[in-house]
Amino acid sequence: MGKLIFLVLAIVIVWVVLKNLAKARRRDQPPRPPAAEDMVRCTHCGVHLPRSESLLTQGVYFCSAEHRRQHESGRDAR
Ligand SMILES: [Zn+2]
Repeated sequence: MGKLIFLVLAIVIVWVVLKNLAKARRRDQPPRPPAAEDMVRCTHCGVHLPRSESLLTQGVYFCSAEHRRQHESGRDAR
C-alpha cells in the first residue's frame, strides 16, 4: 500500500513539473505586439492602419507610397 501511494505521488510530481516546464516555455516566447496600437487614417483613401505601417509626410499619414504620390499630385493639380 505504501508503495502505491509513493507511485501516485511520484506521478503527480512528474506531472506538475512537466506542466510548469510547459508554462515556462510558453512564457519564454516573445509577446505579441499589443493589438491596441495607435491607429492613423490615410489622408488619401481614409483607411485606418497602425501608425508603424503608415507613411508620415509633413504631418499627414498615408497607407502607401502610392497614395502619398496621388495625394501630392492631386493637390498640385488643383
Ligand atoms: Zn490610402
